[in-house]
Amino acid sequence: MEKENGRLQTPYYFIREKELQYDVDLLKNALEDNWGNYICSYSVKTNSLPWLLTYLRKQGFYAEVVSEAEYDIAVRLGYSNKEIVYNSPYKHRKAWEKVLLEEGYVNLDSSYELDWMKEMSEHYPQREFRVGLRVNCLLDQLLPGAQTTGGKRGRFGYCYENGVLKEAIEKLRRLPNVKVAGLHMHTSTQTRAVEIYGALAGMAVQIAREYALELDYVDMGGGYFGGTDDMPSYPDYFKAIGKELKKFFDPQKTKLIVEPGVSLISRASSFITGVIDVKTVPEGKFVVTDGSRVNLNPMTARHSYPHHMEYKNEQTGEMVTDAQKAARELLPSQWICGSTCMEHDKLFEVVEGPVLKPGDRIVYDRAGGYTICLTPLFIHYFPAVWVEKKDGSLFQAREAWTNDEYLQKNHWE
Ligand SMILES: *Cc1c(COP(=O)(O)O)cnc(C)c1O
Repeated sequence: MEKENGRLQTPYYFIREKELQYDVDLLKNALEDNWGNYICSYSVKTNSLPWLLTYLRKQGFYAEVVSEAEYDIAVRLGYSNKEIVYNSPYKHRKAWEKVLLEEGYVNLDSSYELDWMKEMSEHYPQREFRVGLRVNCLLDQLLPGAQTTGGKRGRFGYCYENGVLKEAIEKLRRLPNVKVAGLHMHTSTQTRAVEIYGALAGMAVQIAREYALELDYVDMGGGYFGGTDDMPSYPDYFKAIGKELKKFFDPQKTKLIVEPGVSLISRASSFITGVIDVKTVPEGKFVVTDGSRVNLNPMTARHSYPHHMEYKNEQTGEMVTDAQKAARELLPSQWICGSTCMEHDKLFEVVEGPVLKPGDRIVYDRAGGYTICLTPLFIHYFPAVWVEKKDGSLFQAREAWTNDEYLQKNHWE
């Protein structure tokens, strides 16, 4: 075991199964209450940890994949082709055919896929193919000021407003054995606001009506808030979605597909780092830790992170969250710094906070949802992932990467 004085060696990500189960149940109950006929399809790109994919498969989830590698890992971990939802503007022909032929869900996104459908239709005249179309629409007109996509058009799917979606539908209708059976509404939004999902569901109704579509499913995608009680959660979203969809669709006939990612796992995950050293400069302190910004948000610079501290009591060696118990005086400024050798690897400033010392821990709460996998192999490799099981025992879902993994498939002379 990677343990040091009875504690797990930092840095590591931590997933609490109990809290993960809480959000899985919240999701299923919300879908049960508001639609009944549904598929939960987990967004593999958000976090493709094999333990997590297996856990969710056992709970009846499908896998929402957006690349050949994701398709392959889902299949290797036991998802059948029927249990795959395949999205993406860049699809791999073999995986695409496999999912299509074995009656999984394929949401078309690109021009070339319409040609592929024509080929499939001719090649398999005996078969019937049912496919979905990803919708590209501007919500800002429906919801002025709702800051959906910041007024910018998304880059995915077939555009509704200029008739490209209509053309795609007509093209598919000319193929005798192909049916437009689904609409894929996933849209990245800045605010994750509930009203946006109501508007998206309304858009699915409008499109189905306008083009007389009889749909097997409406796929509302992901992008929900989750994991905190002070934000909207699944019951709010699916109430709004169900209300709109019921204006046209019958839950008996049309399934609701959802593709949650980070909303499902953020409550359960955290990132645990340790204090390595403290440097004194005239302006204050630099607290060097063994985790980095790159493990938390490699894509943006931010200087506020939900977190809490664990102080090491110097007498007893015990970790306490209450600084007073560890008898720490206050310091005007301590900058929490990361483990990389980049100057900007500074996470946040502790102002007038208890002095931090080597051996203390900084725990980033609701962290790791995306970054368990999005963290780069930069200077340090993937940190370990530990799972706290429902019975309180620990399970190592991923060992920290070392050069054993890094050197694989490299060649040098
Ligand atoms: C990223 C993505 C999701 C999941 O998004 P979250 O914000 O993690 O919920 C779902 N569907 C598609 C098509 C995606 O690209």
